[in-house]
Amino acid sequence: RWPMSTVTEEYHAKHRRSAELFREAQDLFPDGVTHDTRYATPFPITATHGKGSRKWDVDGNEYIDYVMGHGALLLGHSHPDIVSAVAQQAARGTHLGASHELEQDWARLVRRLIPSAEKVRFTSSGTEATMMALRLARAFTGKPRVIKFEEHFHGWSDYLLAGSGRGTGGIPETTWGAMRVLPPNDIGAVEATLRDDSGVAAIILEPTGAHMGRLPVQPEFLQQLREASSRHNVVLIFDEVVTGFRISTGGAQAKYGVTPDLTTLAKILGGGLPGGAVTGRADILDMISHREDPEWDVERRVSHPGTFNGNPLSAAAGVHCLELVATGEPNARADAAAARLISGVNTIMASMEMPGCCYGEASLFHLRLGRACVCGHSGACTAPHSEVTGGLTAAMSMSLKRAMLNAGVDLMGGRGGIVSATHSDADVDQTLAAFEAGFDALRRDGMV
Ligand code: PLP
Repeated sequence: RWPMSTVTEEYHAKHRRSAELFREAQDLFPDGVTHDTRYATPFPITATHGKGSRKWDVDGNEYIDYVMGHGALLLGHSHPDIVSAVAQQAARGTHLGASHELEQDWARLVRRLIPSAEKVRFTSSGTEATMMALRLARAFTGKPRVIKFEEHFHGWSDYLLAGSGRGTGGIPETTWGAMRVLPPNDIGAVEATLRDDSGVAAIILEPTGAHMGRLPVQPEFLQQLREASSRHNVVLIFDEVVTGFRISTGGAQAKYGVTPDLTTLAKILGGGLPGGAVTGRADILDMISHREDPEWDVERRVSHPGTFNGNPLSAAAGVHCLELVATGEPNARADAAAARLISGVNTIMASMEMPGCCYGEASLFHLRLGRACVCGHSGACTAPHSEVTGGLTAAMSMSLKRAMLNAGVDLMGGRGGIVSATHSDADVDQTLAAFEAGFDALRRDGMV
């Protein structure tokens, strides 16, 4: 049984219908949820609908939402242009079983915004995009192994779960032999691996760091990886599933001026509908192309089916979303709201003498709790990773998530959140009041 703290008691009282639905859900789904990060104790909320920066649950509670479709909703919930674009396309066909013009418009926008994009291949999710990027790199170089970094997340495929600190049950042991998991920000370790192992096809990373930048990558590391991978003929892959169209309109690669060979995209790409893509150098993407040569087509070519690749509904939403992103306005609004939020949370923590801080890049924010902060609080945290990860335990973040839900704010995993272009000054003010109440409740429960 879950201990009845005051935060938990209030949570039970405010979420009776969610609790009932969770009991039903446990009979239907493992953990009673359909995504690992929705797992929550004593039970998660069940949502009904969303609009702009807000969403509502089955008990009628209203929340300022910082989960924002796991990062897909830069434009907020139910943006009117996207709703009408999707409705119109639904009436014209949800799957045409053929090429269509919208997928070209969508790819042109990717090419316009993302510096590395020469050719594009759409997938249905970020996991599929990173799987395809590895496959392309191996086929292109003829080499088997891939370097990734500790805790960097690239979806749930066999190879890429290596070193992610997540459940790896069911993955064959042999898979790990194809992966070299290295500490981030250590170019010496990368150089040594590339010198000792001539079988490395690719290096993949989250370009602002693990967990959406929670454990930041130093920008000079990106440049160092670019140089090392070019020297060793290794394909450099930026996984911009979260950072693409968010860290800047052209992703982390545009902001830091480092162009990878391949880029993986999803989330904002689909304007709130499912969609992913791998994009980058035309000569690597063309490993998917047929040559009417049986030896090439069967033995060397990378095949890529996928029922919902370039799906017209996602394309309609994605085109409208990326057209708005291209104006620069949504990013500017979301970044400004996040900056105000980060600075406000730091002021509250200082005045309450809470050890920790809030930091983040663009419209992503992260919380440190329970440990003094040594970073400058603006932009990425400059503290060593061992410092950043200490402090905020799983029990504390679950407790903070509940306390903030009680106060009308939905955080991402209780460790930070994702801001959209629809978060207003009033939303930020209300969120700051909720943080004050949330920290206070955590302190009363003896959590911090
Ligand atoms: N790569 C990164 C950096 C992610 O954060 C995620 C998902 O959160 C993925 C890949 C996987 O994307 P999807 O959930 O669309 O499969």
